[in-house]
Amino acid sequence: MSREKLATLGLDLPLFPTSTVGSFPKPDYLVEARAKAAKNGVSPTELLALERRATEFWIRTQEELGIDVLVDGEQYRGDMVAYFAETMGGFSRGGLVRSYGNRYYHKPVITGEVRWKEPITVDWWRWTQSLTTRPVKGMLTGPYTIMDWSFNDHYLDRKAACLALAREVRRELEALLEAGVRIVQIDEPALSVRPEELPFAVEAMHQVVDGLPAYYIVHACFGAFETIYPGLLDLPVDNLDLAISHSALDLLAMFEKNPFTKDLSLGVLDVHSHLVESAEEVRSRIRRGAEVLPAARIWIDPDCGLKTRTVEETRQKLATMVAAVRAVRAEAR
Ligand SMILES: [Zn+2]
Repeated sequence: MSREKLATLGLDLPLFPTSTVGSFPKPDYLVEARAKAAKNGVSPTELLALERRATEFWIRTQEELGIDVLVDGEQYRGDMVAYFAETMGGFSRGGLVRSYGNRYYHKPVITGEVRWKEPITVDWWRWTQSLTTRPVKGMLTGPYTIMDWSFNDHYLDRKAACLALAREVRRELEALLEAGVRIVQIDEPALSVRPEELPFAVEAMHQVVDGLPAYYIVHACFGAFETIYPGLLDLPVDNLDLAISHSALDLLAMFEKNPFTKDLSLGVLDVHSHLVESAEEVRSRIRRGAEVLPAARIWIDPDCGLKTRTVEETRQKLATMVAAVRAVRAEAR
């Protein structure tokens, strides 16, 4: 069914389309420039030039590796929630909190009515898409995760904050679609934090996407998926992107019990490990997926963003992934 949707959007993708989850590591020159920029040692214009240089590097790298659906690599983003909150009205910047490892970010605080003021991701999308003939995904952080990773000093409860955010995320989506985006990934890593809230997370997703024509992927990770499956299938999207390789739980066995009804982006690379998977390991993960779901409904990608890996590890892992996909495609013929 979703293959038909891709066709109506003018997208002709090979069997097992390859993509990535969004973030790539920042080259050293950009990490240094961002640190200096925070102390006013680098001007915004200089920083933008370096962000563009790094973005173009990742577009070329994805093309050389043979990835089918590209991302811009998020070289200009720090934290995925703060990036959106800083551009929207109704937020103020909170104190530093630890996200994971030794990374810290300013947790946003909702202090008033949240409000989309201007396009947030559109200029980057338009520019990166102009660099390549392959489709580039639009990348949004979902309303549930923005709500969960912010302090709420304004709305009555979490649901009210989430639904208010959904209305504003929809405006960003509308701007992206107007620019020509056809594939949109909505990141909802917080989705399984409180399983009892899944119904309003689903309601919020309806508010974001209903009636807007695109192929939608929801990326969820950090998951205790057994607590939100099969309810997760109520999300009104085409494709669910789940961390499979890192998960101790055999998600695929779960799908044998409760059939998975959407396209699946099958995470086949562990983004938390320095070790580069062997091609055989990746091939067997893909084959395992194809035992449970029709091959035509499977996309292949890493478990999550690759920003914590080195540039070289990222290239090697993705090269292995593409080689494995090519081998499995050949077998399927
Ligand atoms: Zn993730």
